[in-house]
Amino acid sequence: MKKVIIASKNQGKINEFKELFKDFNCEVLSLDNVNFADEIVEEGQTFYDNALIKAETIYKKYHIPVIADDSGLCVYALNLRPGIYSARYSGKGDLANNQKLLEEMKDVKDRRAYFEAAICLYVSDNQYKLYRGVLEGEIGYEIKGDYGFGYDKVFYLKEYDKYSSEISLEEKNKISHRAKAFFELKKDLDAYFNHK
Ligand code: IMP
Repeated sequence: MKKVIIASKNQGKINEFKELFKDFNCEVLSLDNVNFADEIVEEGQTFYDNALIKAETIYKKYHIPVIADDSGLCVYALNLRPGIYSARYSGKGDLANNQKLLEEMKDVKDRRAYFEAAICLYVSDNQYKLYRGVLEGEIGYEIKGDYGFGYDKVFYLKEYDKYSSEISLEEKNKISHRAKAFFELKKDLDAYFNHK
């Protein structure tokens, strides 16, 4: 049976990818399953770079196909910051990240922003493909909502008139940047993996 490694330690992401592969004759492995305990230094300049760095590092070690992803928030008025530094923007976690962002945006009129996700499918030596998804929105003026993680509590979705922390996970999974990149990846899986 073919195998694929999901280059993530985030159980939520691993479960999402397992779900994606459920119609394929393919064993889905996590980094824990292959005993990978090192840190991968994400020194790329874009989400694509970092997804590729992660996928390539794991592929070159195990020679098994790999899926890796990277994502973050880009704010137009901040020259697309925090971008690839989204998780480490304040250095003090999600709440401090949101507080820092609202402070930086205090007097800014242009609130436009987007979440971006990049996924890399690395199948054999130097053979890989990248997928991208984007969710457009605006930076709100307060921290609110009960769902989601990261910047969801400050990310306003005009078409819902709600923050992305105020819509259910099910709803978010239909429109999110990750879901869009995922959808593109799904279209290609048949080319590399055997269907059940
Ligand atoms: P990573 O792709 O797991 O490294 O996530 C990068 C960071 O981007 C997260 O820690 C969040 O701060 C932010 N981020 C990525 N996707 C989302 C999202 O769907 N909602 C809120 N924040 C997100």
